[in-house]
Amino acid sequence: MNFVKSPLVPEIRSDAAYYFIFSCNDILVAENFPDPLSIPCIPETAAADMGLEGVRFLGQYGSTDCWCARIRPAHLPAKHRLISLRALYGKVDAEFWSISGYARQIHDWNLNFQFCGRCGHATQAEIKEHSRVCPQCGLTFYPRISPAIITAVVKDDQILLARGVNFPIKEMFSVLAGFVEPGESLEDCVRREILEESGIRVKRIRYFNSQSWPFPDSLMIGFTAEYDGGSLSIDRTELLEAHWFTRDNLPLVPGKPSLAGELIDWFVHGQN
Ligand SMILES: [Zn+2]
Repeated sequence: MNFVKSPLVPEIRSDAAYYFIFSCNDILVAENFPDPLSIPCIPETAAADMGLEGVRFLGQYGSTDCWCARIRPAHLPAKHRLISLRALYGKVDAEFWSISGYARQIHDWNLNFQFCGRCGHATQAEIKEHSRVCPQCGLTFYPRISPAIITAVVKDDQILLARGVNFPIKEMFSVLAGFVEPGESLEDCVRREILEESGIRVKRIRYFNSQSWPFPDSLMIGFTAEYDGGSLSIDRTELLEAHWFTRDNLPLVPGKPSLAGELIDWFVHGQN
């Protein structure tokens, strides 16, 4: 990793800086035809010409400063365009995609917590850390992270996959996932989500891996589990269909960079 996070703006700025600039859910990229897309690396004066708002320091990539900000669509510079963060994957270096996700979450927090949720007063950004404080009542707002579990449930040589109501690609199947609720452990959440969504009880829940998933602010925590009982009975508010699949008969499933893709890959390659 070449990127080092820091909220502290250095006294000596780099000549040019990477700007992770957002407009709604999209990020600004430079078009360097025929070269690949890139995150704009520009002098501070050029950034000022774009009329950026909500500019916030993120850290340094090597010795180059990194900032996040937002732009009004009317101010888009020439030879740049907006692209969704999901679509950016594979079009820039993997570390830049990762920094883009971090930038998106810092930007969203900085934008969404400008006013105190308790008393309505305008909040103030702290300098030494990414936090916003209400000067009226003292409440502090940190970047929000929403933990969610994602689980590969295996029954003999089959994996449980479902098609979700809200999947961006309608024909895609994936492992089951859901947000952690207040008061429950991650394992409780795995048991509850799988049972609620599919009617299946699970055992031998084991941690697999985790992944920041900035759509908009999830931390995906992956598990594997074994079938313990029950028959498929899906929650139709969440799922369109769910089935058991063998590794040689898989439907369309997610690939990289998702943790879902990693879990399915683990099943396909023998669950080691
Ligand atoms: Zn307040």
